[in-house]
Amino acid sequence: MESIILQHDMEEELGFAQGYYSKRTAHLLKVHTDQGIVGIGEVFGAGSFAFANQAILNHVIKPLVIGRNPLDIGVIWHDIYNAVRDHGQKGLPICCLSGVDIALWDILGKATSLPLYQLLGGMAREQFVAYGYGMMFRKRADLPAIYEEEVARIVEMGFTAAKMKIGLGVQKDQELAAAVRRGAGDGFKLMADANHAYTVGEASQLGRLLRDLDYYWFEEPIMPEDYDGYRSVRDAVPGINIAGGEAEWTRFGHRELLSRRCVDILQPEVASTGGISEFMRILSMAHAFGTPVMPHVWGSDVLIAVDMHLVSVIPDLPGGLCQFEPMLEYDTTTNLFHERLLQEPLNIQTQVKEQGGRVGPPQGPGIGIELNEDFVQRYRVA
Ligand SMILES: [Mg+2]
Repeated sequence: MESIILQHDMEEELGFAQGYYSKRTAHLLKVHTDQGIVGIGEVFGAGSFAFANQAILNHVIKPLVIGRNPLDIGVIWHDIYNAVRDHGQKGLPICCLSGVDIALWDILGKATSLPLYQLLGGMAREQFVAYGYGMMFRKRADLPAIYEEEVARIVEMGFTAAKMKIGLGVQKDQELAAAVRRGAGDGFKLMADANHAYTVGEASQLGRLLRDLDYYWFEEPIMPEDYDGYRSVRDAVPGINIAGGEAEWTRFGHRELLSRRCVDILQPEVASTGGISEFMRILSMAHAFGTPVMPHVWGSDVLIAVDMHLVSVIPDLPGGLCQFEPMLEYDTTTNLFHERLLQEPLNIQTQVKEQGGRVGPPQGPGIGIELNEDFVQRYRVA
């Protein structure tokens, strides 16, 4: 088992409601089998968190995995979870477990010559909408104008939906959201992500403003620990979807978001919440509560590819001719770990352009990707 951290400096700092960053990080994982198969995974956690995760992987998790039958995915999952439970039921240990689980599913696919979507029950849809994520904070005064131009470029690229960062205060956010609506045009699907910047009162006020600008969802309005607060925001602002779940872990955490009716749209992150195994358990539980799932994605093309499979297999909810459609989150800001990391690029932007904003998963066995090893060596820092 090998943990590989890649990093590069960014041309310009980008920000969200919790801070700015100037480096891109990708934390990849390779699990080697004695049959010569290499499973690829990715661990959520940028910057210094990647190095902390690497230590957990090497010292805590690796001894629990080496020598095991890699096809015992569920057994290994629970052995790791039981081992780390007393030290972290949420956060870094579960991110590490997620990366291992993803790599084991890739091994299963390669061992059986089947693509991941087939192992997970088959494609409910061959293509789906990729939404263009951009409009991140810059340390510049003319942010509304920057946002307005940026969303117009995303529309021009062929995307049919887009997401922006907010979290600079209700009034400033209203200016940003109005600028993005102007740049995108009426009827274009827009989402706003506050990364838990607000109190319940502020979020309720801002939610009404976003609803009046015809935004489709309001993501992480308040702190993720406040389940009852989520429900209060949801009740206070009918007419806009309240989304959340990227800062929640495992079926046990998501059980709270679901049973307390916190969100209209649940957004589990496969590389942090417990991997593909746990994502599928959370998906089943969400649908039992009648709550649609829209995966959160923040990572390299390894993770984008995994999520392409996940979005393709999510069953219709509730079923019928007119369906809620899950979408793929795709970061449109400059990121070298998109389109250059893999031997065969995913060609997301080409697919978006040529297929009316829609994309489909890779077709090879497992996740269906191979790493470009020259690229990996060039950007590897640990
Ligand atoms: Mg988010």
